[in-house]
Amino acid sequence: MTSTAPALVPASDEAQQEVVDLCAELIRFDTSNPTSDERACADWVVARLADVGIASELVESAPGRANVIARIPGTDPARGALLVHGHLDVVPADAAEWQVPPFSGEIRDGYLWGRGAIDMKDTVAVMLATARHFARTGTRPAREIVLAFLADEEAGGRFGAHWLVEHRPELFTGVTEAIGEGGGFSYALDDTRRLYPIENAQRGMAWMELTATGRAGHGSSPNTENAVTDLAESLTRIGRHTFPVRLIAPVRAVLEEAARLQGVDVDLDTEDAEDLETELAKLGHVADFLQVVLRNSANPTMFSAGYQTNVIPGRATARVDGRFLPGHEQELIDTVDALLLP
Ligand SMILES: [Zn+2]
Repeated sequence: MTSTAPALVPASDEAQQEVVDLCAELIRFDTSNPTSDERACADWVVARLADVGIASELVESAPGRANVIARIPGTDPARGALLVHGHLDVVPADAAEWQVPPFSGEIRDGYLWGRGAIDMKDTVAVMLATARHFARTGTRPAREIVLAFLADEEAGGRFGAHWLVEHRPELFTGVTEAIGEGGGFSYALDDTRRLYPIENAQRGMAWMELTATGRAGHGSSPNTENAVTDLAESLTRIGRHTFPVRLIAPVRAVLEEAARLQGVDVDLDTEDAEDLETELAKLGHVADFLQVVLRNSANPTMFSAGYQTNVIPGRATARVDGRFLPGHEQELIDTVDALLLP
């Protein structure tokens, strides 16, 4: 065998079932951030580790905001520890928008459904199942492994990763590398090769609050300075805007390598936006998950104005989730400025 990539090793049925069972249980904890907290879920994680004799520490950064840290000793102390981290919180889910109750952890049509099923209670379940398998079989990894089950990833990490690094840095002593979410999903190139992309860049966040002021008045009178109308028009322009593709060097490097591995020719230097889309489509899956790092974006997400149907408010506010590629922050701000009504 001269293959440089591992062949796909099918997991045993029991191992797979354990991951599914753990993930379903994790989903049943409503850890919506910011409307709920992680404490009950974190207690459950501690118990699942304790089941097999793994000690862990539950660290609360604020009441209910709970993180769990465990260490699995390695056989080679000369090597640095590896941090494997996942988050226990999820973004909120409106049950009315779901075909399956979002916190049911139900299996339907061969799929496990629920908020967090892919972000990222699935990974948390794999972390737990692997640690439990190690403990049950007496398997010792070469490197020491630090497992971190974190709070508050979805709202900025103030009560999770950020807090731990600031207040409990000793929990990560000896760690030289870390693996977490992001980087894209792994996928099979063919029967023997699987790609595990490594994240090499991220977009920055530019969350914006927009305020329109106009002339307050009665809802029955004509009004050409209606703050709600003006802000809605600006938001529509922002939301419908197509930002141009900007191939930054780290993204280009991933695309070129993916093309090489897949044996396809792509022309990334074409000036024409449509041609570029056609070229990228040749890369299939890899181009799909790189969509979010091809360009800046700005999506209106919140709108607030008024208090009564027959009163035109003098003011309306909205929030926009802006994201910019490294080096393209000013471009994003200038674009949004230009899209706003004067
Ligand atoms: Zn996530």
